[in-house]
Amino acid sequence: MTETNDEKIIQLQKDLDNAKHITYLTGAGVSTHSNIPDYRSKTGIYNGVSESPEVLLSEDTLYHHPEKFHDFVMKNMYFPNAKPNLIHEKIAASCNQKGQLITQNVDGLDKKAGNKHVIEFHGNLYDIYCTKCHEKISYEEYKKSYLHEKDNGIIRPGIVLYGEAIDQKKLIDSVNAVSSSDMIVICGTSFVVYPFAQLLSYRQPDTKIWVLNNTRIVNNDGVNSIIDDALATFSKLKI
Ligand SMILES: [Zn+2]
Repeated sequence: MTETNDEKIIQLQKDLDNAKHITYLTGAGVSTHSNIPDYRSKTGIYNGVSESPEVLLSEDTLYHHPEKFHDFVMKNMYFPNAKPNLIHEKIAASCNQKGQLITQNVDGLDKKAGNKHVIEFHGNLYDIYCTKCHEKISYEEYKKSYLHEKDNGIIRPGIVLYGEAIDQKKLIDSVNAVSSSDMIVICGTSFVVYPFAQLLSYRQPDTKIWVLNNTRIVNNDGVNSIIDDALATFSKLKI
């Protein structure tokens, strides 16, 4: 007999209530409800050639074609007026009580929602600095130019570019969170980006796993899935 989504939500609510420590793993599908598009689905057109985010968001583009990099991030990634939605808010409330969020999102909305236990796995778009003098730069200044007025250094956001390594401390903290949880909730991510997707392998064997997504994740052995819009699912949860 197949359970309906409503029956599954009752079980999910029980698991959330009974869990001692929950780790949430989230991705772009959470922030699309705040009108932030998934930049991985975007391309840029330069000199009539369409270029992928893997190329545009690389160190090579940042240092050798900084205008192209700047143009792409400003058009496709920065939405400074975006507000956290119900999913950010409920995850924040749950984490502040007994959990940890590890997010792939770089938009800073989880912190805006008041979440005090956030690991921004891929960094934060608003941690902007000059690559020459390492001075912090405001979003307003970066918006005007990709060059630091003072020393002509190239300005960049503190996000992990394609080909760059994840911060070691964040990686260790994330592994520790996953391995010390009795429940893991995956939301808004197809879970294909490495090493983020690998985090799940550090779980304890009896840890409960829930996926709240509009698509299944690839390796779903022993995983409870509610395949629906995550906003609809969260709106039914009492957190
Ligand atoms: Zn500088």
